[in-house]
Amino acid sequence: MRLRNIPGADEVVANSPYCISQPAKFKGSFKSELFNNDNPLHIEIGMGKGQFITTLAKQNPDINYIGIERYTSVLLRAIQKVQEEEIPNLRFICFDAADILDIFACREVDRIYLNFSDPWPKDRHSKRRLTSSTFLNRYNSILATEGHIEFKTDNRDLFDFSVEEINNHPLWKLDAVTYDLHNDSTMNEGNIMTEYEEKFSSLGNPIFKLIASR
Ligand code: SAM
Repeated sequence: MRLRNIPGADEVVANSPYCISQPAKFKGSFKSELFNNDNPLHIEIGMGKGQFITTLAKQNPDINYIGIERYTSVLLRAIQKVQEEEIPNLRFICFDAADILDIFACREVDRIYLNFSDPWPKDRHSKRRLTSSTFLNRYNSILATEGHIEFKTDNRDLFDFSVEEINNHPLWKLDAVTYDLHNDSTMNEGNIMTEYEEKFSSLGNPIFKLIASR
């Protein structure tokens, strides 16, 4: 998702108390120095307008949440939605997740959510997909031993690619897979819809979900 350039978005993002402007400063100390607690840290990469992670943060005050989105024009929408509220366990980072090893230390993150990630349909761009082995290697470094990844999409090609990347990876394994999340009573329990999920499921598209760990 890339919204047209929105004048002033960079400034709003830079000045929002929800945004971490120099995330690398907290590498290894997000819990102790930023959130001032020892609660688990869950992140969403490619959070878009933030409905999913904001809802989760309100539901689970004892978990720290960080949403990562690379475009200020998109992050601006998430900030506008929460700016009148106080959600102490929620922060955003405007950042390209390709460099995620620069901001999180080894084993610092307890869960990673990937929702409706960009499909990058051309083969030559496959390493940019957030479920490629390139990214799985990065997640392997930052994710706690007991941590896991949760990935949802309505894009069958991207989902099949993701299942294959995990199955072919020497460290990662699939813990659960569904090809129709909204009609899978076990995996859909407590499901929080993202903006894209609402849009595509309302068109009748099935939603695919996998959970992977090491
Ligand atoms: N997760 C939201 C949802 O389900 O409604 C948004 C989905 S949208 C298709 C994908 C989002 O991921 C876009 O806002 C895009 O800018 C962001 N994104 C894609 N690649 C990214 C990356 N490498 N780092 C940070 N954000 C990324």
